Amino acid sequence: MTQQEAKQITLETAVQYLKGVGPSRAAAFAELGVRTVGDFLEYYPRDWVFMPEPVKIADARIGQMVCLVGIVEQTDWQPYRKVPMFEVTLADDTGYIRVVWFHGRYLMNQLEPGQLLLVHGKVGKYKYQLQLNNPKFTILAEDQPRGPESLSGPVYPASAKLPGWQIKKIMQSHIAELAPLEPEFLEAGLLKKNALMLRAKAYRQIHDPVDEDTLAQAKRRLKYDELFLMQTGLALKRYHVRHGDPAAPMRCDDAIDSRIRKRFPFLLTEDQEQVIGEVVTDMAKEIPMNRLLQGDVGSGKTVVALYGALVAVANKCQAAIMAPTEILARQHYESIERFLKGSRVRRELIVGGLTGKKRTKLLGRIKNGEVDIVVGTIALVQADIDFANLGLVVIDEQHKFGVHQRAQLRKGRSPHCLVMTATPIPRTLAMTAFGDLDVSIIRHSPPGRGEVITRWVEPPNRNDAMEFIRQRLKAKKQAYFVYPRIDSENNVDSEKSDIKAAVDEFHVLNEKVFPEFKVALLHGQMSADEKMQTMAAFREGQIDVLVSTVVIEVGVDVPNATIMVIENANRFGLAQLHQLRGRIGRGQSKSCCLLFAETADETAISRLQIMTRSRDGFEIAEHDLKLRGPGELFSARQHGLPDLKIANIVEDFELLNLARRDAFAMIADDPTLIQPEHATLRKEVIQRFGDKLGLVDVG
Ligand code: ADP
Ligand code: MG
Repeated sequence: MTQQEAKQITLETAVQYLKGVGPSRAAAFAELGVRTVGDFLEYYPRDWVFMPEPVKIADARIGQMVCLVGIVEQTDWQPYRKVPMFEVTLADDTGYIRVVWFHGRYLMNQLEPGQLLLVHGKVGKYKYQLQLNNPKFTILAEDQPRGPESLSGPVYPASAKLPGWQIKKIMQSHIAELAPLEPEFLEAGLLKKNALMLRAKAYRQIHDPVDEDTLAQAKRRLKYDELFLMQTGLALKRYHVRHGDPAAPMRCDDAIDSRIRKRFPFLLTEDQEQVIGEVVTDMAKEIPMNRLLQGDVGSGKTVVALYGALVAVANKCQAAIMAPTEILARQHYESIERFLKGSRVRRELIVGGLTGKKRTKLLGRIKNGEVDIVVGTIALVQADIDFANLGLVVIDEQHKFGVHQRAQLRKGRSPHCLVMTATPIPRTLAMTAFGDLDVSIIRHSPPGRGEVITRWVEPPNRNDAMEFIRQRLKAKKQAYFVYPRIDSENNVDSEKSDIKAAVDEFHVLNEKVFPEFKVALLHGQMSADEKMQTMAAFREGQIDVLVSTVVIEVGVDVPNATIMVIENANRFGLAQLHQLRGRIGRGQSKSCCLLFAETADETAISRLQIMTRSRDGFEIAEHDLKLRGPGELFSARQHGLPDLKIANIVEDFELLNLARRDAFAMIADDPTLIQPEHATLRKEVIQRFGDKLGLVDVG
């Protein structure tokens, strides 16, 4: 970069060229994900402090919000209190005060005697003494400025190499000049309608707020922007898919319908009817279907997929049904085989084991249109299969969601596309992860499904539970025992040393607890062959008890397995517990899920209680989202969307709704953002989503 250019700072300029940064700090910034001025402006504070002038300890009064600066005289972690707490004695030249943080174990390696500490909070009282509970705090470094104004304001997430106060100092010296670089991309009408602050001002205020009210407005604007850009990207994508290459419109008259129905040895459920209706309506159009089908494991999605495939075949088109793993692809193929016995529909399974001439021949037949339905793994089908006339693609994503790979299968004419997932997705997530899709839901599973009783078993009741299981095993039922990890050796976290390891426990169960039964082990480090063999033996009833890690999550259907024990159930997330439990209750008879757990953790207890109360995947998913927050449950990046830096789809749900309505209305009016007033916005969206959503060629 020449001198000349260095003067002209833009959002793309490397932070290194900002005064006060330089190469070594730039490297530290890079570790925080900040490379350009634009990144820097989006390096949002994690908190803001509106700090009063510090007062002397002797002048602190009950009920006051105060700021105190003192030396840490003493620290004490008290784990055995009713509420464990971390206590600090803070002193200045006028006196002492007790400062406590409840559940403050994490402070043990942060706070120590001799440190100069600033605390900010409300003065309370404990047994006639003044006390500060859970105050905000800053450890003051030797070289850190101490005036009250330098302690107020934004608090930045820091790294060891780059303390927060330094980030703040650099930000403060540049923000007035940098914030105006952020272009305004919302039209005046939208700003006014939603009472939004100007964008440049919002950047200024988020980093250097004049007061709390203005800060709140700045946050609202920047959150809105994030959500609006995301929704605009999704709206564009949706438009693009719908108005790109057309699909073959498919007819499904009464004759076709009744011919297909004859294939199913049962009546379709109300939910299946509804969803099939939606699918058939979509497939009748030239606009390619782009639909997500949600339904718990066992709710009957495969039937819907097969119905769609047979509609395609009746219209002289091919259908591809894809699953994430080979086991699942086989399972789909086998159940399709059952339904299509004696049918003239030509169907083939394509898996990794197929090689050489056989494979070449099969690919040739698919290319020539001599195969009607192809079942395989997502990777295989997408990698190298040419279809003569692909009319429908079904992608069963099972437990993951949002693999935006559909476009890869499009050649010339677009196939209709149905994505299926067994992960119940709360509405908020569906609007973001799948914001460009239409959504269908199967809520109720087919009738005749066995009841599943779920119990939380605490240690004193373990033996009774084992006896109960023994009785069931004697009655020729089968059981799953699921453990969080494979073995106790690879134990990095000593806190988790109480986790029962599948391998150890396998020996205990096999030799001591159930010596009279056949016990087998299944885990992720076994070869694919071994796993397949063990699962097959279990399905055929040669194994009574299957001890496993969570690999059975994506296992097979064994209706006779009516017992599931989940050991250390408190260590599992709700979604996972629910998925695991979905393995039982698949036959007619009553099943039983036993959650072995000993815990005092409130969140874990809530999870266990929800599990014993509900079998409704959507209800469980909503709870999960509330308990865990969207961050853990949903990483935007994984779904091809940029991560949200400031908005939170749960907490900011109202704003998300607003942004979504605005974005979709705008795209309906200007589908390629070609109107001049959308030029800046268009640039911004393409920059953020271009390759991720395949929008490069929009417009
Ligand atoms: P999913 O794919 O959603 O996990 P499946 O389509 O594999 O569920 O269905 C689970 C089981 O229920 C299968 O054995 C299937 O044959 C059966 N099934 C599906 N629909 C019905 C129905 N309407 N009535 C009775 N059984 C059904
Ligand atoms: Mg299925």
